[in-house]
Amino acid sequence: MNKSAIKDGLKKLGLKTGDVVLLHSSLPSLGQVDGGGEAVVDAFLEVIGKDGTLVAPVFGKLGILTAVIKNHPEAEVSDCPFGTVAAIGRQAKEFCQNHWQADTVHGENTPYLKIADAGGYICLLGVDQDRNTTMHSVEALLQLPYLQESGERTFSTSEGEQCKRWKHYPGPHRDFINLDSLLLEAEIMKMGRIGNAQVRLIDSRAMLDLCCAVGEEDPAFVLCDNPNCKDCLTQRAAISASELECESFSLVTSALLAGRYVPEMIENMQESGISQIELDYIQGQPIQNVSKEKLAQAVKELRDNGCEVVSLRSSCLDADISKLLEMAVENNIQNLVIPFNADVAKYSEQAAACKVNIAFYNTVQSSEYVKTILKKAKSAGRVACLAFSAVNFAMTGEKPFLTSYRNGLRSFIVQLDLEDMTHAGSPTGLAEGNAEVKELISILRCRNFSGRIVLGAKNRFTATLQESAAEFKYLLETM
Ligand SMILES: [Zn+2]
Repeated sequence: MNKSAIKDGLKKLGLKTGDVVLLHSSLPSLGQVDGGGEAVVDAFLEVIGKDGTLVAPVFGKLGILTAVIKNHPEAEVSDCPFGTVAAIGRQAKEFCQNHWQADTVHGENTPYLKIADAGGYICLLGVDQDRNTTMHSVEALLQLPYLQESGERTFSTSEGEQCKRWKHYPGPHRDFINLDSLLLEAEIMKMGRIGNAQVRLIDSRAMLDLCCAVGEEDPAFVLCDNPNCKDCLTQRAAISASELECESFSLVTSALLAGRYVPEMIENMQESGISQIELDYIQGQPIQNVSKEKLAQAVKELRDNGCEVVSLRSSCLDADISKLLEMAVENNIQNLVIPFNADVAKYSEQAAACKVNIAFYNTVQSSEYVKTILKKAKSAGRVACLAFSAVNFAMTGEKPFLTSYRNGLRSFIVQLDLEDMTHAGSPTGLAEGNAEVKELISILRCRNFSGRIVLGAKNRFTATLQESAAEFKYLLETM
C-alpha cells in the first residue's frame, strides 16, 4: 500500500475536501504501507484538505496512527482526562476546547457531538464497531440507567488545576458489533476495502439520531446477550430497576424464590433489579423458627448489599405472634405477613401496639369469608389488611379477579402475592394459570396501587427469580 492508493480508497468511500472525520484505526490491518503511519495520516489530510478536520481518540494505549496524529505539529488535544481526542485542521481547536467542562465525557458539548454537528464522519479503519466511541454519546444522551458517574480526576487545564467527576459514564461491557446491519440498512454507513483493511465510513449525526431512537425504544440495545456476562446482566438489572421506579407499587421478591442462602439471594436480586425482599425462609427454615441472632445477621447482610427487607412472612399461624413482632421491631422491619384467620382484629391490635403493619394472606378461605372478617375488624376500629393470594383463591375454585377481587376486597389489599397456578393446583408461569394475575396487576395499576407486589415462593416451581422478574416485566409491557 502507498499513500495514493489509500487516498483513492478514501475518495471512493465518499470522503472529500472540507470533510470532518473521526478516525478509529489499526495500522497493521492495512498491510505493508510505504511511509508507515505518516503516509496514512497524510492521505487523510490531503483528501480532506486544509478546510477539513481529522480527529482521533487518544485515550488508553495509543495505536500507531493515533500517535502520529497526536504528535503532529498542528495537533490540538482536548483537555479532558477521559475520552481525550487529538485533532488536526480547520475546526481542531473548536472541537477540542472546553471538553473537560462538559457534564459528560461523550455527550453534549464534547468533541464527539461537535463532530456530528459539523456534519462529520466516523471512520473505522480496520477496526469494528466495538471501537466506535460515539456510541457512548448515544448512551450519554439517553442517560441510560446503567451508566454511572466516572471516577474523580485531578488534572491541569488552561484555567489551572481542576478536580471533577463526569455524569453518565459508560460501564464495563457492551456489544456494538451488531450495529453494522442497522447502519447499513439505514444507508448511513458505507463499507469498503483499502489494502487488507475493511473500512467503514459513518455519518455521525445520522448514526446518533437513529441509535437514540432505537435506544429510546430499547434501552438495552447495546448490551450483550451472553447469559454469562455478569456486566450486562447487572446493566440490564439497572434498566429494570429504573423502569420499576416509575410504577406506584413496589416489587418485592420472596426469600424462598430469591435463594436458599443469603449471598445467593443478594446475587439473584442484583441480577434481576429487585431491591426489596420478604423474608419467609432462610436456609430452608421458616422464618418463625429462625433464631433472632440468625435473622439479625441475615437482615444486616442483605441491607449492606442494597437489599431492603420489607416484611417477615410466617408460613403458619402461631397463637402467639409476639416473637415475630419482636424480631420485626428489633430489625426495623415494617411489615409482618401471616396466614388469614378469624382473629384478624386481635392480631391487628397486637401489631399496632408494636407499630408494625400486619397483613393476612388468604389460604383456604373463600372471598366471602375473608370479606366478612376484614369488615368486622374494620368496624372494631382496626386497620385490616389483606395480602391477596390469587392462587389460593383459585384453589378454592373461585375466579381470583372476576369473583374474589370484585367481592369487596379491594380496599383491604396492601399486597398482591404474584404467583400462578391452575385450579387443580399445578404451578404455572405468570398469566398461564387460573390466578388471573394479568387482570389483577392491570386493575391495581389503574388504581395507582401503592402497596407491594410480591414475586411469591411458588414461582420457584416454574422459574428462577430472574425469569419471574422477566415474566413480570413482560406482563407490564404488554398491558
Ligand atoms: Zn456483556
